[in-house]
Amino acid sequence: MPSNILNEVLFVDIDGVVNPAMLHAHVMLLIKFKALEQSDEHIDTRYLLRAQERYVLWLNLLGSQKYDQGTELIPPIGAVYITLFIDVCYIWHSHLLSPLRYYEDLHRIYDPQQKFPDFPLKQLYDVWESNGDHTDPPSEKVWVEETKQPWILDPNDSSDFKIICPWCKSSVQIPWVNYVKLMQTVETDESCPKCYAPYSIETLSAKRFVDDISAWNKDKTRLIGGTLINRKNGTYSEEFATRSFQSLFTTSSINELTNFDQYNWEHIVKQLNFQIKNSEEKIVQRVLSAYIGIPLAFSIDLISAVRRQRKFTDKVVNNKWVDCVGAQENATVRYLKFLSLTKEKPSIPLVPTFDIDLCWHTHQIHASLYRAFTKKHAGRIINHDDTLPEKELSVGFEATVQAWNKIYNEPYVQSQSKHPKEYEVNEECGEQCQQCQSECGPEACYCD
Ligand SMILES: [Zn+2]
Repeated sequence: MPSNILNEVLFVDIDGVVNPAMLHAHVMLLIKFKALEQSDEHIDTRYLLRAQERYVLWLNLLGSQKYDQGTELIPPIGAVYITLFIDVCYIWHSHLLSPLRYYEDLHRIYDPQQKFPDFPLKQLYDVWESNGDHTDPPSEKVWVEETKQPWILDPNDSSDFKIICPWCKSSVQIPWVNYVKLMQTVETDESCPKCYAPYSIETLSAKRFVDDISAWNKDKTRLIGGTLINRKNGTYSEEFATRSFQSLFTTSSINELTNFDQYNWEHIVKQLNFQIKNSEEKIVQRVLSAYIGIPLAFSIDLISAVRRQRKFTDKVVNNKWVDCVGAQENATVRYLKFLSLTKEKPSIPLVPTFDIDLCWHTHQIHASLYRAFTKKHAGRIINHDDTLPEKELSVGFEATVQAWNKIYNEPYVQSQSKHPKEYEVNEECGEQCQQCQSECGPEACYCD
């Protein structure tokens, strides 16, 4: 849309999901997420680890069902789909905010033909509004029967964690205190009681990597994390992955780790460095980043992702301005301008302001719409990376201010802002002027 038209509209409705009503629903969701935070750090980690396990069970449940895109999910899963439990939403939401990784993960781990639903923000909001709570008896019945898990995750649940030992395949119970520790520590005293494999975030993530490499060597459809997304345009390509690995890892000595001491990243990276050519360094880095310190099948650490999002959530729940209709209307227009800018200035790592970021997140959690929209209007699927260091954010923000002023002939932030990332707004909502700044990074540049 040309910028002069955008200057004349009050608000825009993008894909039916980025509009003032949906921004309000998203704020409500974040307020519910805020209430899940546990004050004790260990209890909090325990809660998130359990929520993450339940998210995997939830994906498995969805992944086991076949349904056509465009039709409602078949019951009884349809009911579960609509009133998803809040702890599962919590993890899913953060996974969605890494849109390229999320897409790759689901396609790599599950049947690539499987269609996963977008985050049901509107349905959830309607349930909260009508029930005042997060209940749905038919969904609860299916969930409990299929997963043997309670419907509501109890933050005080102090039962053991259970894992399948990745070496000997025994079922192992680990007291929660030890499990929380091993999931955060490179070295622990924890080990398998049957085969004595040492357990830590280091060994478990290294084992996953080695297992994935050997699975790929046996069956070339078992693709390796970090290889499937073309970082230039965000598209998914199995052909790209297969080509990347034709020579790499095939005869690698990492296939032949003979003792437990070798399951550490220093050893693995050293083995890799013997054989990679300079041209392969980037792809190897990308693969490593999808495995190091991540014991689960995903390519990002979802616990850290949830914790990063909390900074953004804190600003939302402590900021009445963002839930003001006038600010939300304005935000939708500014978000569309922001997306247009990514097309006009593809080489600039654009950094959003707080209001734009809320729109951006709202769009991203509707993953299929987001992918289609950015591909069509920006020419590529725009990534969102909230792990960039502060310095890169500041440089990106300054560049965004310049580009915005030039293209739209209006300030990106109010000139009174003392800090470039502050965005002061005086809307007609009667609220005091708020200063907000973005935590989210610009789209990361992974250009080869
Ligand atoms: Zn074992």
